[in-house]
Amino acid sequence: MVAETIDGKAFAARLRERVGEAAARFEEKAGRKAGLAVVLVGEDPASQVYVRSKGKATLAASMNSFEHRLEADTSQDDLLALVERLNADDAVDGILVQLPLPAHIDAQAVIAAIDPDKDVDGFHVTNAGRLAVGQAGFVPCTPMGCMMLLTDRLGDLSGLDAVVIGRSNIVGKPMAQLLLDANATVTIAHSRTRDLAAVVRRADIVVAAVGRAEMVKAEWLKPGATVIDVGINRLPPADGEEKGRLVGDVDYGPASQVASAITPVPGGVGPMTIAVLLRNTLVAAHRNAGLTAPE
Ligand code: NDP
Repeated sequence: MVAETIDGKAFAARLRERVGEAAARFEEKAGRKAGLAVVLVGEDPASQVYVRSKGKATLAASMNSFEHRLEADTSQDDLLALVERLNADDAVDGILVQLPLPAHIDAQAVIAAIDPDKDVDGFHVTNAGRLAVGQAGFVPCTPMGCMMLLTDRLGDLSGLDAVVIGRSNIVGKPMAQLLLDANATVTIAHSRTRDLAAVVRRADIVVAAVGRAEMVKAEWLKPGATVIDVGINRLPPADGEEKGRLVGDVDYGPASQVASAITPVPGGVGPMTIAVLLRNTLVAAHRNAGLTAPE
């Protein structure tokens, strides 16, 4: 069997286009554009790339992008004061503080300061709680994107065995919650799990969110499983290469001989994150304007 490649890049492009069309309709109805504020503290190169691409994608989707770039030595109080201003600003529907923050700032305190109804990253404890009890809120973008790819591919997930490897607050736990809400039978594996291979072998759906290059082996997979690889890992450069290749948490080549469908890295889950961020911002804008959000 050769697995079908789940083309997250194409899916994300279609989602961004739909969000852009809906954002244009929002502007007509509300008399203003939806707006996303992104806050970057310091000069982490990867974060700068993410913030730049979020800004570009926001503008391309007919929304306002408000970028706030602060010096690395910005105090926590100054950052909290900016978050308060953004909370109070009616032109700002979504607020995203790019992580990681410099070590002298308590990221949890900053996330807690964001108005939960503008927390389009879905990291606020109120949104984690809403997800846990099944209330409408904001779901973290990466697991939401994985879920969209899964339901697009599999339709109804009821009764399927799903294994999520990783239990972080931003990927693993919300992923498991979403799968549970979709009536899958969910196992969450982590670094203390005994015999991970045996746990994975039961799964119709495997979501790997670990951060270890090519850790999940083809022999671990049940033939025909659907595999979502969240991991983004850079290998050391091979001879003649300037930068090492990007790989996922799944050993893609061999695994694609066993799975029925699998996301590549890059081009799988990665592009979904920004697309879902735009969607969440559009939903926030509708709620803030008292309008019904599109599906
Ligand atoms: P974390 O480091 O926060 O969590 C990793 C999880 O993996 C932990 O729960 C850890 O277990 C578990 N783990 C570590 N080693 C093992 C092991 N040997 N066996 C089983 N489980 C293990 O990472 P994130 O959740 O933030 O991210 C995971 C990956 O996804 C990373 O590669 C990251 O780059 C990528 N990512 C991609 C995104 C995108 O595509 N846009 C967005 C976010 C993340 P324990 O809790 O026991 O320590």
